[in-house]
Amino acid sequence: MATKAKELTVEEKLKALYTMQSIDSKIDEIHKLRGELPLEVSDLEDELAGLQKRIENLNTEMENLKETISESKNGIKEADTLKQKYEKQLNSVKNNREFDALTKEIENQDLDIQLMEKKIKDSTEQITSKTAYLEESNELLEKKVKNLEEKKKELEKITKETEAEEEKLSKKAEKAQKKVEDRIVNAYNRIRKAYKNGLAVVTVERNSCGGCFATIPAQKQLELKQRKKIILCEHCGRVLVDNDLAS
Ligand SMILES: [Zn+2]
Repeated sequence: MATKAKELTVEEKLKALYTMQSIDSKIDEIHKLRGELPLEVSDLEDELAGLQKRIENLNTEMENLKETISESKNGIKEADTLKQKYEKQLNSVKNNREFDALTKEIENQDLDIQLMEKKIKDSTEQITSKTAYLEESNELLEKKVKNLEEKKKELEKITKETEAEEEKLSKKAEKAQKKVEDRIVNAYNRIRKAYKNGLAVVTVERNSCGGCFATIPAQKQLELKQRKKIILCEHCGRVLVDNDLAS
């Protein structure tokens, strides 16, 4: 059975705490090495989804425009047929009233034709600009897909390279943790989380706390060297250890 925490001396606990810190700092380094990659990958995935949606919408819009054009072309044909029919009837009108009515109908068909021609022109212009936008989006998509693949590969490589190392370190950290009471481990984790650099156990450097650089009084430094109790920095709350213990 492993040695129970309460059976260990303060010095041994301090050493265990220092070991925990060294290992956790190494693991932090590994995570830093992976750095922004996981975030970059998920950002790229979001971007890709957005781009794909955009392309899908553009394709639907173009389909609709093409349908408008074909409907308008048919409409023009129908209006043209009607117009020709009315023009023929114009040759055999019996009175002014009939003439006026037919002329009005022909005018209406002309207006319809103009309207539909304008629709065709507008839709054609829109298709041209959408085609350019679609091409641009497809190119961008291709680029992003490639970029994502590269980032994923890179992340995979780094993860693979560091996974074994991280696992080994985690096991070591666990072993050290068992030497210290849960209460202290919890405090250690709390302090680590509170500081960006993840330092909960620090040495005294040039009479100052290695975490916050506050001066550590000589009396306290003496106590530290005795390793009889766990001493915290009064300013930042980190666990202080003497330099010799760290080396
Ligand atoms: Zn401090």
